[in-house]
Amino acid sequence: MSLPLNQPVRDYAPGSPERAAIAAEIQHQRANPRRILPVVGGRRIETGNTCGMFEPHAHYRSLGTYDSAGAGEAEAAIDAALRARHDWSRMSPASRRAVFLRAAELLAGPFNARLVAATMLQQSKTAYQSEIDASCELIDFLRFNVAFAEQLDAIQPISSGTERNRLEQRPLDGFVFAASPFNFTAIAGNLCIAPALMGNTVVWKPSERSVYSAAFLMDLFEAAGMPPGVINMLPADNPAEIGNLVLNHPALAGVHFTGSTAAFDRIWQTVGTNVSAYNSYPRLVGETGGKDFVLAHASADIDALTTALVRGAFDYQGQKCSAASRAYIPESLFGDVCEQLAEKVRSLTVGDVAEFHHFMGAVIDERAFNAITGMLDHAANTSGYRKIAGAEPDKSEGYFVPPTVIACDDPLSRLMTEEVFGPVLAVYSYPDHRLEETLELVDTSTPYALTGAIFAQDQGVIDTLSGALQDAAGNFYINDKPTGAVVGRQPFGGGRRSGTNDKAGSAINLLRWSSPRTVKETLVPVHGHLYPHMAE
Ligand code: NAD
Repeated sequence: MSLPLNQPVRDYAPGSPERAAIAAEIQHQRANPRRILPVVGGRRIETGNTCGMFEPHAHYRSLGTYDSAGAGEAEAAIDAALRARHDWSRMSPASRRAVFLRAAELLAGPFNARLVAATMLQQSKTAYQSEIDASCELIDFLRFNVAFAEQLDAIQPISSGTERNRLEQRPLDGFVFAASPFNFTAIAGNLCIAPALMGNTVVWKPSERSVYSAAFLMDLFEAAGMPPGVINMLPADNPAEIGNLVLNHPALAGVHFTGSTAAFDRIWQTVGTNVSAYNSYPRLVGETGGKDFVLAHASADIDALTTALVRGAFDYQGQKCSAASRAYIPESLFGDVCEQLAEKVRSLTVGDVAEFHHFMGAVIDERAFNAITGMLDHAANTSGYRKIAGAEPDKSEGYFVPPTVIACDDPLSRLMTEEVFGPVLAVYSYPDHRLEETLELVDTSTPYALTGAIFAQDQGVIDTLSGALQDAAGNFYINDKPTGAVVGRQPFGGGRRSGTNDKAGSAINLLRWSSPRTVKETLVPVHGHLYPHMAE
């Protein structure tokens, strides 16, 4: 069975048509703030609890408001999802899949600039970062998941002359709760798409930090012909209120979560406490935090290494779960690597993403700004840290944290072990002859195991490093940055405290949203209940 082609990535170079289209769309969106309402059973509900939305790189610019959902809307969304389940789960797979393929075509066409611009303005992504998220990855999720679902249809049991057997991919018995992070519009989409494609209905709580782009996603689903109630959207400024209601409902059949480890722990604890009260055992799928590493061997190509470190650590302000955030460099290369990093970092500009020449925008909000600068203050005021590159953060107009590289004497210090989720790269110099101990450090000094990269030239060394780090990352890169997984090419997810590793963008993930039914049809029924051995 053939797979679709990945959506080509456009570069938004000066004079390109995509750049002109996005510039015009940004102007249009800035001139037309939105009022976003919870969507329940296809209806938009006013709640009167109004919250603001703003551009992180220009926080004086409003994107509009949203009405925050509470327990009442959550209850209504569950009812709507359970009502919609009857028809949606019985719809032919071909018809259901048509909705997602139509959404892919709409997103590749008339909805494209809308989603890309909304993601730039809401999440402060540059045009390129928004392109690979809201356009390419989301289109890929829509198309590839349909192809993966078709592959699952082909998994069938044996039949014989007297019986026909088949495996039906049924949805879970209840509703699925999807809770999405702020950082990827495509992830928000996929958390809904994957269960819905398999016939489930979904109560979706987008991140309170990216409601604006989530609303455009909901518009896309509706335009593609998603029946009312299949995906119900609950923007909410108090996630725990929605979580408590939804996770305590007996019909909860699954949770599709991406976000912090702490939030997923709370969800798992609630589900564990309630386990006897549910109609079925809810499936828990969560992709969570990371402290992603780059380990260089003495044979590494230094140019390739520093390029990967800069892009891996600072693309999208380091707010990717896969961002490079701790690097282990052999002493013999450390001086040159630091020099190159400092030089490359000096060339990175930070600013309003609507000005296309910037490398980076702002971090998502004041809470993130304070958390990241708190970590930078800690490094400035503690011995054992030395700043290699990085200017002063500034939140007067936007939440700007410049890219920062900090050398750490202690490989177990906070900067080397805690997730910062911002543009901060910690680097540690290890003695060349201590490679084995350093591999042990990479493997054991954090609780996470999401992504990681090694840089080396000799194939024997590459094999040794890969083997030693087999459990340290769910997505492992050789001579490349640890970010930028592409649907269909690098199925994504990590182990340990980084999540359940159910590989978004693969058939493995789709299987989590299915409770298959085995059907045996006997062609010639048996008559007579006694067995031959009973004869005299
Ligand atoms: P977050 O944990 O703050 O929020 C994620 C989602 O969970 C949001 O929708 C939030 O409202 C919701 N939530 C929080 N508490 C809840 C509760 N009690 N009940 C119900 N819902 C609740 O995460 P974030 O700040 O949006 O995203 C950043 C984090 O996500 C980082 O830790 C990053 O590593 C992680 N992340 C991981 C992956 C991955 O694939 N592993 C991808 C993207 C982001």
